[in-house]
Amino acid sequence: MSEHWEIYADWNPWHGCTKISPGCKYCYVYRQDEMYGSEIASSVCRKTGNFNLPLKRKRDRSWKIESGKIVFTCFTSDFLLKDADEWRPDCWKMIKYRRDLWFFFFTKRIDRIMECVPPDWGDGYDNVIVGCTVENQEMADYRLPIFLSLPIKHKTIIVSPMITAVNLTPYLDETIEEVSVGGESGAEARPCNYDWILSVREQCIAKDIPFRFHQTGARFIKDGKMYRVPRCYQLSQAHKANIDYKIGKYLVPEKVRYEWKDSDYHD
Ligand code: SF4
Repeated sequence: MSEHWEIYADWNPWHGCTKISPGCKYCYVYRQDEMYGSEIASSVCRKTGNFNLPLKRKRDRSWKIESGKIVFTCFTSDFLLKDADEWRPDCWKMIKYRRDLWFFFFTKRIDRIMECVPPDWGDGYDNVIVGCTVENQEMADYRLPIFLSLPIKHKTIIVSPMITAVNLTPYLDETIEEVSVGGESGAEARPCNYDWILSVREQCIAKDIPFRFHQTGARFIKDGKMYRVPRCYQLSQAHKANIDYKIGKYLVPEKVRYEWKDSDYHD
């Protein structure tokens, strides 16, 4: 997949997050901050210098984030974090203005989304993909019924870090465009069992929903044996397992297409 990295962009309008559920225990934001010796606590959310990135232009006046890109949004925090409530309305304005881009965010706070969406959200913005993250059965049983009930144009379920087996069957309906599964990374990662992954795959196939195995995690159990997988191989090893179902070449649901037209494009 490496040949397609040029179609992605990152936008982290704020950084820092508070832990809310078991999946947050070894949060990579905290790990990265520690690694880089940050003097500000990872739990303190602050705006970044790239807050306005979607509106920034190069010297030749072209967009810094070129049209058609998939923008991974708020990956060093949670887009629906309460501490960011006063900043988010400006983000929605940028997202609406740049409807020539796709904005993809993951959240563990799906229960807050209707407090956070803009007044003209309606059935959801066409260019926003929301990934509801669950890490165990308890979180799946809490978050996914809420997720299913929400007006969102593009929905994915992210089972990551997968720390127990999960049964998603009650929550797999035609509105779910993809399920993506992965183990935990980091020195203290909790193990992920390949049997759990295969089980979710079967659940998805039974409902004809695309399934992606995106990373093994650092401790991976297969056939009863635990493997330590270095960070640099966690994605490629998952890809090598070759168990994806109805997955295209991009890291977004296949249903998501470049539907933007020049006539929609504000410039
Ligand atoms: S919600 Fe995400 S970013 Fe926030 S603490 Fe949990 S794992 Fe980290």
